[in-house]
Amino acid sequence: MTVAELAGRVAAGERLTRDAALKLYLEAPTALLGRLADGVRQRKHPDGLVTYIIDRNVNYTNVCVARCKFCAFYRPVGSPEGYTLGFDEIFQKIDETIRLGGGQLLLQGGHNPDVPLEWYEDLFKQVKTRYPTFRLHALSPPEVIHISRLSKLPVPEVIARLVAAGLDSIPGGGAEIMVDRVRQILNCYNKATADEWLDVMRQAHRAGLRTTATMMYGTVETVEERLEHLLRLRALQDETGGFTAFITWSYQPQHTELGGIEATGVEYLRTLAIARLVLDNFDNLQASWVTQGGKVGQLSLAFGANDMGSVMIEENVVRAAGAEYCMDEFEVVRNIESAGFVPMRRNMHYDMLGGPVFRDREVPRMLELAVARADGSGGEAADLAAYEARSAGAKQTRGDVLRNQ
Ligand code: SF4
Repeated sequence: MTVAELAGRVAAGERLTRDAALKLYLEAPTALLGRLADGVRQRKHPDGLVTYIIDRNVNYTNVCVARCKFCAFYRPVGSPEGYTLGFDEIFQKIDETIRLGGGQLLLQGGHNPDVPLEWYEDLFKQVKTRYPTFRLHALSPPEVIHISRLSKLPVPEVIARLVAAGLDSIPGGGAEIMVDRVRQILNCYNKATADEWLDVMRQAHRAGLRTTATMMYGTVETVEERLEHLLRLRALQDETGGFTAFITWSYQPQHTELGGIEATGVEYLRTLAIARLVLDNFDNLQASWVTQGGKVGQLSLAFGANDMGSVMIEENVVRAAGAEYCMDEFEVVRNIESAGFVPMRRNMHYDMLGGPVFRDREVPRMLELAVARADGSGGEAADLAAYEARSAGAKQTRGDVLRNQ
């Protein structure tokens, strides 16, 4: 079948097969891919709204035993630059988020052997006691697996305990490319195989949680493997319907063990567009302005995205790999409106919350993203001393804290 014939089928609403998606991804002109993806966006969102959320990416710890080769964020156990935030630091971040009109934390972190399940439960319970309507979009599938292994509890039980403590939804991080050949090369196979990642999401959806899905492309995978990733997500969405949105971004190579160069803006737009065409059972696709910058982020709205993602207030992971873009609510709204859409705030479940906060009340401009801790200020918060540690260093530190109390 020719590209033109495939384009006609997509325009008629037919589901793309693997072979058809591959042909379009490899051969369709970029403008045509964009038009097709934009057609899907229009069919799914005929109201002309482009949504966004105000929340904050808090990385509670950068200590990680997984050591993915594409990651510039983590520090090994025992590193003086390793940190774990305390509850009070996290509450302060929530207070700031609420002042800026936000209502959610995206809470993710490294696989820290010295942070047990009980720490998460206590944190979530305290957050919900202090801020009853505040949402916790927390712990990507590999973190859930890590906690399951640490606690020796099955994944469904870990999810049930976290939900009982206050977990609202699960972010789709750690998916990278869901092909085990790629995961082995990137050293992220042990943290979660492709099947394990998908199964955490399956269990979460069965438990009634909604989640997002992601794809980080541009490392060592082939185009066929990117499509395999998308097709596996589509199959799980057919099974559970639990994904609210899909987000893709390019690998950020600076300061990583893997190194290499970043994919171009056109490759990003083509990848976003093919995702919009393949993922016909996903309602929402987000623009990744945090990796692509505001201008390509805005162009995403013509390549299948209907959501500008997050006014994220804080970001640590992408920044560690060299991308330091910042957009506050004013800037996100300016980009949405100049692309011809109506901006609308939402929550993680895509309930519409209203227009821009800064049009209702004065909100301080935010010209750079906050960070978890000032650069180089490692160390774990004193309240960790109440929790069981696994590593020799943390056992020693916590023992010292308790002896000095
Ligand atoms: S990507 Fe996540 S799991 Fe992998 S090394 Fe970085 S912090 Fe650890």
